Amino acid sequence: MLKFLSPYITLFNTLKQFWRGRIIRAEPFGFSRRADNLAAVDLALLIQNGIRGVILDLDNTIISEDDRYLSPGAEAWIEQAHQEGLRLFILSNGKRRYRVEFWSLRLGIPALSSAKKPFPFAFYKALTRMHLVPKQVVVIGDSCHTDILGAWLMGCPWIQVATLPHPFRWWEKLLGKRVQIPYPAYLELWDCDVRY
Ligand SMILES: [Mg+2]
Repeated sequence: MLKFLSPYITLFNTLKQFWRGRIIRAEPFGFSRRADNLAAVDLALLIQNGIRGVILDLDNTIISEDDRYLSPGAEAWIEQAHQEGLRLFILSNGKRRYRVEFWSLRLGIPALSSAKKPFPFAFYKALTRMHLVPKQVVVIGDSCHTDILGAWLMGCPWIQVATLPHPFRWWEKLLGKRVQIPYPAYLELWDCDVRY
């Protein structure tokens, strides 16, 4: 019985270590791998470290998945990134296509929905359309198991931002806590006025 279970135990332990950040010991990117929110990411530092493009997550990174909150200063940050000449792309696992298209138009960023992160297919598409190689593109998102794992599989640098407040998912209810980094209480939140 134990022999049968041992590969699964090894896999579980590997995933646990990945989760705790013990396996991810990639070369330092030259910038912090964590940020409170999108606006807290230093664009000048990214450019200084050879970054030419950004793959962004949408849900709970730019806007909360229940459309309640907008990440403060995110739109100004995106505008600034455009002005600095960075190529931006949105990869969303969201299944509501009209919603992703709406934000793609509003922010002026091409987007792919149902991206099925962390699988690399959508990342490949994004990189091809950006005409950049993985090292030049930073992935910014809130979820360790989709955005960060996907970036790691692709060989892209990444920045994990705190997740915007949103309703607990069933597995989070089961765990009794958020699986992402909770949004810091001292940070402001902007209400979102969008109605589709
Ligand atoms: Mg997300």
